[in-house]
Amino acid sequence: MVLSTLTPAAQATATHLRFTACNVLLQEIPGEVSLAYLISGCPIGCKGCHSADSWSAQQGELLSAARLQQDIGKYRGLLSCVLMLGGEWQPGALSELLQLCRQLELKTALYTGLPYCPSALLPLLDYVKTGPWQAELGGINSPTSNQRLYDLRRQLCLNPLLWPNPAPAYPAKPALAPA
Ligand code: SF4
Repeated sequence: MVLSTLTPAAQATATHLRFTACNVLLQEIPGEVSLAYLISGCPIGCKGCHSADSWSAQQGELLSAARLQQDIGKYRGLLSCVLMLGGEWQPGALSELLQLCRQLELKTALYTGLPYCPSALLPLLDYVKTGPWQAELGGINSPTSNQRLYDLRRQLCLNPLLWPNPAPAYPAKPALAPA
């Protein structure tokens, strides 16, 4: 299944997300300490995906608002950001969680395998990484990568900060999904 097979109504009415891993990450978003959730049910199906065991949406624990708040409370004072590794296929459920992060004064980030940032989520995000995994091009720490990491507040592409020989970020904005 690919995302485009879901109707907008079906995407908008999905009511929950599950996750198969939760970790505090220091490098995925430069300059931020991120509480990261690997969301179950990715429909994109990249060849060579390193998280293929999370493709079933039935896997993992429920990521409720209460669970998110509890996890954030555990690391309060350490975290600066919450990073969702997927979940854009349920924009209603993801929006609720991102709003909660904002209320708790944390920045928000999304890693999506889509080649664009979903328009409906843009106002709720501080960072977005776009692009499917293509092994021959490498991840965002490779200068040849198709993937892009954007700082949405400052309208910068952060990829060069992650290269083996780092370079300055440059002005850029992500492509947006059609409304
Ligand atoms: S977007 Fe990420 S999780 Fe989804 S299939 Fe591609 S690499 Fe795997």
